[in-house]
Amino acid sequence: SLILVTGASGFLAVHVVKSLLRRGHRVRGTVRSAPKGEYLRDLFDPEFPGKFEYVIVKDIAQARAFDDAVKDVDGIAHTASPVVFSGPEDPPESLIKPAVAGTVGLLNSAQKFGSNVQRVVLTSSYAALLEPHDGPYEYSENDWNEYSIAEAYKAGPHAGVHKYRASKSLAERSFWNFISEQKPQFDGVSANPPFIYGPLLHEISSIDQLNLSTKLLWDKFAHELPEGELTAYAGNFIDVRDAAEVHADALEKAEAAGHRLVVSAGSVCHQDFCE
Ligand code: NDP
Repeated sequence: SLILVTGASGFLAVHVVKSLLRRGHRVRGTVRSAPKGEYLRDLFDPEFPGKFEYVIVKDIAQARAFDDAVKDVDGIAHTASPVVFSGPEDPPESLIKPAVAGTVGLLNSAQKFGSNVQRVVLTSSYAALLEPHDGPYEYSENDWNEYSIAEAYKAGPHAGVHKYRASKSLAERSFWNFISEQKPQFDGVSANPPFIYGPLLHEISSIDQLNLSTKLLWDKFAHELPEGELTAYAGNFIDVRDAAEVHADALEKAEAAGHRLVVSAGSVCHQDFCE
């Protein structure tokens, strides 16, 4: 079958493409420019000749951006979304708009022009679940991050990490709302990973181009941490190759329909990264 992967030049997405190719699918990736598409074709062609193609979608937030991309595809993995912990120079809308408009626009295009589409997998995040809790708390797919949305509206550009988290929470909400209200010909699954780390397959020519999670990991090596911080909790994580397999499973397994796949390889402290 032919699977569309949006934002195919991203850190996670290249691994998703590779997982799908390994499983025998053909893949169409959306990229923002031809050189990014050519890089990917050169990357995959030797091992999977003729199985990867790309189309250019310059801005996912543009209305009807995906009308052509969805034609003839059987399934979609929507990974494209801005991933930045931006400073007070950026209003929350700079993240929320592309995240939500990109998701809804893609689903609209798939409903109208993707008559073969049976399943759409949304790359969501722990960010769409995490809320402050007193003491230990066990998250499940029933949890929703309303807190970051409220913070983003309250603190605006000063909402820090909550701008990104709100963008993921609102994008995922718009995804499930579309499916329940529009009743399209496809069903949906969300993948909700924590921090993703692992080898880079996408094109990188300098450290300042690193994707956010890899940059955060790099910073742990590049800057000495105060000793007290070494044992501090540093979040949950998953290997990028496992996160990619989650996406491929989410596309293939019928019983995943309607679920939020909250996955993790465990939690880590800064010392774990150093080791
Ligand atoms: P990247 O920044 O590497 O990937 C983001 C992708 O989205 C890139 O391909 C980027 O294109 C594309 N993109 C962003 N904004 C736009 C836009 N306006 N128009 C078109 N394309 C756009 O980050 P990741 O691979 O880490 O993130 C992929 C997904 O995984 C995201 O949805 C993210 O929220 C989610 N996620 C990531 C986690 C992590 O720790 N890395 C954890 C949990 C979820 P370009 O390559 O041209 O910049």
